[in-house]
Amino acid sequence: MKACRTIAEFREALEPRRTGSIGLVPTMGALHEGHLSLLRAARAENETVVMSLFVNPAQFGDGSDHAGYPRDDERDLALAEEAGVDLVFAPMTDEMYPPGFQTWVDVTDLGSTLEGRFRPGHFRGVATVVLKLFAIVGPNHAYFGQKDAQQAEVVRRMIRDLALEIELRVLPTVRDSDGLALSSRNALLSPEERERALAFPRALATKDADAAHALLAASNGLVVDYIEVADFDPPVLAGAVRVGSTRLIDNVPLGGDNQ
Ligand code: AMP
Repeated sequence: MKACRTIAEFREALEPRRTGSIGLVPTMGALHEGHLSLLRAARAENETVVMSLFVNPAQFGDGSDHAGYPRDDERDLALAEEAGVDLVFAPMTDEMYPPGFQTWVDVTDLGSTLEGRFRPGHFRGVATVVLKLFAIVGPNHAYFGQKDAQQAEVVRRMIRDLALEIELRVLPTVRDSDGLALSSRNALLSPEERERALAFPRALATKDADAAHALLAASNGLVVDYIEVADFDPPVLAGAVRVGSTRLIDNVPLGGDNQ
């Protein structure tokens, strides 16, 4: 496995591999089983697997959330290698946002609902960095988690709207045995907060917005930003709650299985 910090170095490393299919797994690091499930799917379907590792400042609202995001590059690189990744693209911020950067991709309506209402500009940051990664990597397949259902929907819309020749793969949410969706942010929860956070997946598992609101109102001080049905592919009951200073998002697909 090779890790590259610059676009030029990465392109040079990828060039000889462009004869076969390329799978891209974009991540912000602090890898867990959710990320690994995407890497495994990419490994099974492509000649070359690329993982990007970039904590994208443009998708964070305030500096402290970005600065406080868990980082452990050394561990991430070891896990990526174990999962069979061929190339890691781990740029510095300046490489992705060079001085004078001013070109943005905005998935306007979809990007301003649900998460977008609470995190203005978040999906503009996501769409822009994902399009840039697509331009750098040129993947045949791109892998995203159902955990971030609105993000997957934004990327799907962008691929359609801009006629990108990329197949989107969305993999089921990986959960801990107690039901909490794996998230890099879970590392920021104290044991007591983590216990309280379990009310969130339990509420979503009702698959009913009113029932979920009622359960959370009766529970232990989680602050609900929203719990709403979203008409995505597939439709989901999606939500965001705050546990202390940590914000968690999750969703359950409606109908079918309970991923
Ligand atoms: P992140 O590093 O949080 O930006 O996540 C990178 C990718 O992993 C995104 O496509 C996420 O949706 C996906 N992901 C994060 N958590 C999970 C999870 N628990 N199950 C499945 N995919 C996940």
